[in-house]
Amino acid sequence: MSDKQRVLVLLKPDAVKRHLIGEIVARYEARGLIVRAMELRTIDEQLASQHYAEHIGRPYFEPLVEFITSGPLVAMVLEGRKAIPVVRAMNGSTDCAESAPGTIRGDLGVHYRRNLVHASDSPESAEREIGLWFPHLAPQTDDPQ
Ligand code: ADP
Ligand code: MG
Repeated sequence: MSDKQRVLVLLKPDAVKRHLIGEIVARYEARGLIVRAMELRTIDEQLASQHYAEHIGRPYFEPLVEFITSGPLVAMVLEGRKAIPVVRAMNGSTDCAESAPGTIRGDLGVHYRRNLVHASDSPESAEREIGLWFPHLAPQTDDPQ
């Protein structure tokens, strides 16, 4: 069985405001990940709450929704071998200040909430999130790239 995966990635509003779209996408592409979908959009509270449903009730939830709806973000689907752990490792720890140098968060930020990127954390969440953000995307195939 192929270990090709898809992952939903967001370049959050702080990344867009700081003109880091190119820098971050270049890292994913250089690693060998394929961009299967990409869109610049500003989301409303409803999509933000659906996307972050597992965090409802947490103390950071409301400011997180305020932040993620505060301006345009870039949503994309990346595909490649073990794409979920590969992208999570490239992104770094959630708190940029704790994130290792060489990671996106560890190289480009110091904040916790404003941490530049999101990536799905499991095959199940990737499927759910891709369905939420890109409902019309053709399903993944196991054909060689
Ligand atoms: P990750 O994005 O690394 O998967 P989580 O899923 O735990 O992290 O959290 C979702 C997002 O909520 C984080 O990326 C961050 O923007 C924000 N967040 C989580 N925990 C905190 C916190 N304690 N303080 C501020 N923001 C937080
Ligand atoms: Mg998460």
